[in-house]
Amino acid sequence: MAQIFCIANQKGGVGKTTTTVNLAAALAQLGQRVLMIDLDPQGNATMSSGADKRQLELTVYDVLLESASIAEARIKAGGSCGYDVLGANRELSGAEVELVSLERREKRLRRALQAVDGEYDYVLIDCPPSLSLLTLNGLCAATGIIVPMQCEYFALEGLTDLVNTIRQVHANLNSNLQIIGLLRVMFDPRITLQQQVSEDLKAHFGDKVFNTVIPRNVRLAEAPSHGLPGVVFDGAARGSHAFKAFAAELIRRAAPIGPTGGTGSFSPSAAAATQSAMPSTPLPTES
Ligand code: ATP
Ligand code: MG
Repeated sequence: MAQIFCIANQKGGVGKTTTTVNLAAALAQLGQRVLMIDLDPQGNATMSSGADKRQLELTVYDVLLESASIAEARIKAGGSCGYDVLGANRELSGAEVELVSLERREKRLRRALQAVDGEYDYVLIDCPPSLSLLTLNGLCAATGIIVPMQCEYFALEGLTDLVNTIRQVHANLNSNLQIIGLLRVMFDPRITLQQQVSEDLKAHFGDKVFNTVIPRNVRLAEAPSHGLPGVVFDGAARGSHAFKAFAAELIRRAAPIGPTGGTGSFSPSAAAATQSAMPSTPLPTES
């Protein structure tokens, strides 16, 4: 069974797409079978995976409207990325309106993924910067959420909305949904405020904060203009090393349990901590 992770944060420009494509490439380099789904009409994850969003014949839009299957619409990422892509372009912004009147509108992606579940170890979904019907499709399909965040004052405020949404999705639509962890990105240790917020995050969320920290690194920012994830564009860059370490940490956290190799679920303690601590933990800004 694939681990299906949404990379989500309704705040814009926090590093969701950068995290999605670099994690996809790093997991692929570690031998994992990966499908990257671009759920954002901006199509940035598609372009950062060596695919031209304007040339796509089929996209996630066709999958959501059930006029194509994932097997029909997916393509190979460019270069030596090593993962599959279900791409997106501006057409996807229309899906929001078109889906509203349709049945099972929030479960379209989940249903489509069932058909390819056995073909992947990881499915990574790049969400748009909103809590929209598109994001809801991602959250309904996912087994977990990875939340990239910058260690800034207002970052914590944004978490409140996200956690409330996750609580509602967990209660009403997808009881499998867990927060896998918070990923500190674009981190600059020279900035005292970032260190303070980072400490606050660890104090409040404990092991829900990933050990790996992604530094601010210009090679990661340059890579999309070459149509590649940083990990593929410049594997030796500091940021690329960090994403490779993050992929390894994620695999360790998601290691199968049980005598027969298990189901790929998270360890009981991690799962329990996620289910109980995360959604119910009061956020720093609420107090
Ligand atoms: P949106 O909400 O618009 O979808 P996003 O959350 O997906 O944005 P990204 O597009 O990944 O954010 O990143 C925003 C900008 O920050 C991009 O220009 C990206 O190249 C840059 N960036 C992301 N991570 C890093 C990093 N670790 N170091 C330097 N630049 C980064
Ligand atoms: Mg993005």
